[in-house]
Amino acid sequence: MNPSPVIAYFSMEVGLESEMPTYSGGLGILAGDTLKAAADLNIPLIGVTLLHRKGYFRQHLDDQGNQSESPVDWYPEEFLEPQRPRIFITIEGRTVHIRVWRYLIQGTTGYDVPVYFLDTAVDGNDDWDQALTDQLYGGDDFHRLCQETILGLGGMAMLRALGYKQIKAFHMNEGHSALLTLALLEEKKQSEGLGAVTMEDIDAVRQQCVFTTHTPVPAGHDKFPVQMVRQVLGDGRADFLETFGCCVDGALNMTFLALYFSRYINGVSHRHESISQDMFSEYPINSITNGVHALTWTTPPFRRLFDRHIPEWRHDNLYLRYATCLPLDEIIAAHAEAKRELLAQVQRRTDIELDPAVMTIGFARRATPYKRTDLLFADIERLRKMAAQTGSIQVIYGGKAHPRDESGKDMIRRIFQAREALQDQVKIVYLEEYDMELGKSICAGVDVWLNTPQKPREASGTSGMKAALNGVPSLSILDGWWIEGHVEGVTGWSIDDSWKAESDPAEEISALYSKLESVLLPMFYQQPRKYAEVMRSAIALNGSFFNAQRMMFQYLKNAYADEENH
Ligand SMILES: *Cc1c(COP(=O)(O)O)cnc(C)c1O
Repeated sequence: MNPSPVIAYFSMEVGLESEMPTYSGGLGILAGDTLKAAADLNIPLIGVTLLHRKGYFRQHLDDQGNQSESPVDWYPEEFLEPQRPRIFITIEGRTVHIRVWRYLIQGTTGYDVPVYFLDTAVDGNDDWDQALTDQLYGGDDFHRLCQETILGLGGMAMLRALGYKQIKAFHMNEGHSALLTLALLEEKKQSEGLGAVTMEDIDAVRQQCVFTTHTPVPAGHDKFPVQMVRQVLGDGRADFLETFGCCVDGALNMTFLALYFSRYINGVSHRHESISQDMFSEYPINSITNGVHALTWTTPPFRRLFDRHIPEWRHDNLYLRYATCLPLDEIIAAHAEAKRELLAQVQRRTDIELDPAVMTIGFARRATPYKRTDLLFADIERLRKMAAQTGSIQVIYGGKAHPRDESGKDMIRRIFQAREALQDQVKIVYLEEYDMELGKSICAGVDVWLNTPQKPREASGTSGMKAALNGVPSLSILDGWWIEGHVEGVTGWSIDDSWKAESDPAEEISALYSKLESVLLPMFYQQPRKYAEVMRSAIALNGSFFNAQRMMFQYLKNAYADEENH
């Protein structure tokens, strides 16, 4: 049925469109951007993920910044086509029915990349099983293990049922899908079972698997108690996982499983490679730095600007390097349009009127402690004084905290407290319901994109890349992609000058204020053309490199290539 070889790309979340809430953040958006780039480049990727019928969640913020959540209503049938096969897998000794839906990504030259969404909300399953795939990162560990079983084992069974016989590579985007390696071994051994697996079988599976790790701290990796694994997957599989060293301290570690079975392993930035190499010293770790899908993340005024001067950018993002010849006036005009649109949106949503002439700082990302959303308010007095004496500032925030992340929720409340304390001296808005569409408007419509992660926890980060494509420079801690994208005063600015591996908050806070005070604000208000030159080189140097096409070429060359082409 599908005779030509493909690369199967497995991801717990995939963000394709704002209205399809099948993602929670960076991991899912990266997956969507990867698949879109493959479609543009005629690369035979196929995506495998879960159908989250209740999405991630809707975010509500009251006037103190308390977050509450509600399920998202959306209708998968408006976006996805049901496919014929039904498959069955065994969870806790029970048969669970799975069906599949297809989304087709059409690339710029008309090539299609399918994404398959696995769904357990079908007749034949009891209520508990029907809800298994409902919510992204919704349940407890037990629920999560069941979801990962559906993704890994169900995903493999589904590919075979759809007729994909020749699969050149299985790409695990994070460890959630690592159980697919068991399915590959089981296919090999058939009725003999996992007890008969030899080192040769393992090697053969290894030749087919690629693993991208995204988590720079040990606590971030999925682990499940062996007892739970036994219950969900059965004794045969649990024994096998124990024998082959994927269980440590009585728990199955999904990252170890993925590492053990992969021939190619990579981190998502150069720095993240070395962090991961220290964590997993027995495996060779490579790096392929993330990129964003340029067409998706470029706003209409910049699309038009690029179309006028460098029309080739659409099919080959490398041409963005020639942004060096874009007239500054046109960059300024395109940015002014993106800024007007964002401010109009702020007014529609919050009834707050921001001033288009004021230096606007943007910060939007998942509200989780290491992102340090509130770092800008570490010294409110200093910020107040700076805004009064050096130049006005206004700030636009966005971002959801995971429903169980109390410290993330506290961080949102602290932004609201800072807003109270600063009143009209520094206007602050926090927009609810951060999603792809809003993310794009904020990244493009502000004057500088702020990022303050605690080092070394930002494996890559991608929103600054989206900003760069729209001519918005970053002011960021030197972590993740920014170590590679940062040229001081050329593509943006660093907050810390040091190359220390770990954050020193006091030093960073002071550096953040002094950079704003002595560099950004004076340049923005007194040398607008110089500021526009920074905007221009952000596009030329970072837009042309930190995009998903370049990333896809690197996966093709380094990760998916046959052994002999290495
Ligand atoms: C780009 C994006 C992210 C990831 O941004 P980071 O800077 O990598 O954290 C998360 N959520 C949404 C909605 C995005 O558009």
